[in-house]
Amino acid sequence: MLYVVATPIGNLGDLSVRAREILSSCDLIAAEDTRRTQKLLTHFQIRKPLISYYEHNKASRGPLLLEKLRSGQTIALVSDAGTPGISDPGADLIRAAVAEDLPVSMAPGPVAGIMALVLSGLPTERFVFEGFIGTDRKSREAFAEMIASEKRTVILYEAPHRLIKTLELLNAAASGRRLAVCRELTKAHEEIRRGTPAELLACFTEQEPRGEFVIVVEAAPQE
Ligand code: SAM
Repeated sequence: MLYVVATPIGNLGDLSVRAREILSSCDLIAAEDTRRTQKLLTHFQIRKPLISYYEHNKASRGPLLLEKLRSGQTIALVSDAGTPGISDPGADLIRAAVAEDLPVSMAPGPVAGIMALVLSGLPTERFVFEGFIGTDRKSREAFAEMIASEKRTVILYEAPHRLIKTLELLNAAASGRRLAVCRELTKAHEEIRRGTPAELLACFTEQEPRGEFVIVVEAAPQE
């Protein structure tokens, strides 16, 4: 069995009872960063063998993990924070296990983007998850074109050092729309700032962006 296990995005109290049970009872934990996951396991007094599974070794590790699944082992798949497969490694292993009809289940839990969407106060009926919009000019231009006419609420992940650049882009492509910039969710310095791109630009130009961010963008007005 492959168990996809969501882990906290900040507050360790968000590790579910079921996630703990699976991490405690599996044969092996496949982790994005074994050192980081070891800290989580130590906190919860869980002792299990760990194997790394991340972007740059997934091609070689994937077949090894599939072999273990075929032989009947239970593997828990975790990423550094939140839900594996959501802007994190995991999707390929899940896809490969599904393709072979190997059993896959999940201990669901935190996703930064979903928490931000809910707290944004913006419509949640229809939304798009864009994740990281990319750093190269071409992908940012394509994003600007898309966001200008997108009729659903949009969720973005952004690194602190690129927050200002992305707010500038939104100021050009989605100027009158409301945004929620959600910072350090579930952590001690959790903070949500709401306003137009121009208002938020002014605010983060004054105070250097620090920590982890999700930006939620209001949909373009219906014609
Ligand atoms: N798998 C994760 C999830 O389920 O949300 C996302 C992993 S992605 C590599 C990391 C990005 O998620 C960060 O750069 C940030 O944009 C967002 N993120 C993760 N934790 C966050 C938090 N506590 N507060 C705000 N954003 C967070």
